[in-house]
Amino acid sequence: MAPYTVHMSTLFDPKKKQWVEDVSITVDPVSGNIVSVQQRAPGSLGETVPAGDIDLRGKIVMPGLVDAHAHIFLHSYDERPSLSQKRDESNAERIIRASQHCRTALLAGYTTYRDLSSESMGEADAQVRDCINRGLIPGPRLFVATRALASTGSYELRSENHAGGVCYPRGGEAVDGPDEARKAVRRRLAAGADVIKFFADYRRRIMRYPPAQQHPYIVSATHPPADPNPDIVVFAQEEMDAIVREAKLGRAPVACHAGTIEGAKMAVAAGVLTIEHAYFADEELFQMMVERKCLFVPTLAVCERLHKKRFPEILAQTKLAYSLGVRLAVGGDTGTYPHGQNAREIELMVEGCGIPLEDVLEACTVGGWEACGGDLCGVPFGWLAPGVRADLIALPTDPRKDPRAFRTVDFVMKDGVVWKQDGKGVNLHKDQHTWIDC
Ligand SMILES: [Zn+2]
Repeated sequence: MAPYTVHMSTLFDPKKKQWVEDVSITVDPVSGNIVSVQQRAPGSLGETVPAGDIDLRGKIVMPGLVDAHAHIFLHSYDERPSLSQKRDESNAERIIRASQHCRTALLAGYTTYRDLSSESMGEADAQVRDCINRGLIPGPRLFVATRALASTGSYELRSENHAGGVCYPRGGEAVDGPDEARKAVRRRLAAGADVIKFFADYRRRIMRYPPAQQHPYIVSATHPPADPNPDIVVFAQEEMDAIVREAKLGRAPVACHAGTIEGAKMAVAAGVLTIEHAYFADEELFQMMVERKCLFVPTLAVCERLHKKRFPEILAQTKLAYSLGVRLAVGGDTGTYPHGQNAREIELMVEGCGIPLEDVLEACTVGGWEACGGDLCGVPFGWLAPGVRADLIALPTDPRKDPRAFRTVDFVMKDGVVWKQDGKGVNLHKDQHTWIDC
């Protein structure tokens, strides 16, 4: 496989946050890297490009997108609630679904996924990552958390009301005290985690009004209090501190699920790299995040579905974070809604929050790389320069005019290999069968 060149007329450069014209990028499919980025003199290229090159002139090109908060083992909660997915689907079904989700995500233009917990599938997210890296299935570059950390009785499937003898799959890893926290981080890293995820808070009263646990946001008991399952902090400060300190020793980034302001502030004080969700946030939290260079992944797409009542407020909070200078990354908690519809998060940031498109696209590329740990993640991706991973996508319509442009990505390259061209998947069904006489 020899290096070849991709020619384009309009390119989004996330480092400059600018649209640039007449660029040609040479890539090496063996190393997977960009070799050179050249500015072409206008008119220097004929009607057709040299044999072996790719012509993306007339399309809108940018680096491959990063989904900073996804779950490959989940499919839409509209199809089946999360508990039922974990309880009623076999490991084989969940792995086969994950492999389909990975292909779908890649073909939708998402060349990197930060997969923030395997949702009762143990370390299988690390194993799917390795299968993609070995070329067994197509998919985004995965950075995985394996099991999320939480304290006893918080992010676990609860069973107080079950009929007895029911064995639920374990979800997160229950950890109590700074020593166990340190040990759990070491165990996660040894099990293949690229990123450590912990829960700052969760719905700890989930069994008081059954069967609300069938879907934590739908109240189905009679006469429940106004908020039957409030989010409550699950770790003490010293436990969060121990998680972050140990992860730093292990050179791994830390992501924190936070539903409460209190939990989010404790996590930011502990030094996490990213705060996920923060459904409740205030200016003080965002100021802390700016000071400590903590990224915010607001997961608007899941909030649009599960937090309808407060959604306008959640959009306004995200706009406030942006205007205060909080660093954003883009990921909708994909999997709770369909993989392939990842770009809903881009649409909500632009249309719902009023954040300029260029800032959102920068957050969805360079910001995504930073959320994966930046230099800690070992590979540069998300912008266009020699030595950076050759991830490119192209859109037939211009997102500056068409707010739905990201729904029809029609070209995808990851690591210098083309996976979609002119709207159709390519290289997806390689026949690897060869007969060897012995
Ligand atoms: Zn999530």
